[in-house]
Amino acid sequence: MSTQDETFEFQVEAQQLLQLMIHSIYSNKDIFLRELVSNASDALDKLRLESLRDHEIQAAADTSDLHVQIESDTEQRTLTVRDNGIGMSRDDVVGLIGMIAKSGTKQFVQDLKEAKEAQDENASQELIGQFGVGFYSSFMVADKVSLVTRKAGESEGTRWESDGTGTYTIGTAEDAPQGTAVTLHLKPEDTEDSLFDYTSETKIKEIVKRYSDFITWPIKMAVPAK
Ligand code: ADP
Ligand code: MG
Repeated sequence: MSTQDETFEFQVEAQQLLQLMIHSIYSNKDIFLRELVSNASDALDKLRLESLRDHEIQAAADTSDLHVQIESDTEQRTLTVRDNGIGMSRDDVVGLIGMIAKSGTKQFVQDLKEAKEAQDENASQELIGQFGVGFYSSFMVADKVSLVTRKAGESEGTRWESDGTGTYTIGTAEDAPQGTAVTLHLKPEDTEDSLFDYTSETKIKEIVKRYSDFITWPIKMAVPAK
């Protein structure tokens, strides 16, 4: 983090939602990868669409070799989902944080709390499935998430980072490639358990096959064989 970084506080509702994520409300944590791959795929769709519609974007953006890339590092215990799609401006990133306050969040958090208190696992899973928690599901498996992004056609990149508790920071990212890279710093307890080792090639491939098989963009892997 550099000196120009700004620290922001999550809204109360966002904090509640993140707390639920951190304490793994899903019985199936694997779905975080589906959410990240689906965001990456959306970003590639958007770039393709916008470059067809807008010649300036077409001229300024790189639309060759559009793909998703998944990288893992067993030593650093990180998992990165990268795309070279539309990317986000700094304002978009702030807006992304705002998205968490999308309509229904308050009700969702309340309903989910009640289902949890009643230990009604079926009701919880149903609520979660309907709501679709998206990007924030990363915090089920990560104790820190960093996102580096640069909007297609723009020159300056943005970095967003958070441990999912009270605050997040936003700063400028030098030399960010077009598109978005989300890096999860995996919770140590998961990496020790081979069932949840999200740096493992076998595990990653299994999840991608199960949940992201329908994605039309190429999904490249840079994961150490294990
Ligand atoms: P949803 O995908 O349902 O909108 P998410 O929480 O998954 O909700 O993502 C919130 C928003 O953040 C997206 O709508 C998109 O605008 C932005 N976003 C997330 N990931 C990316 C990405 N890889 N590239 C560009 N924008 C992204
Ligand atoms: Mg999404």
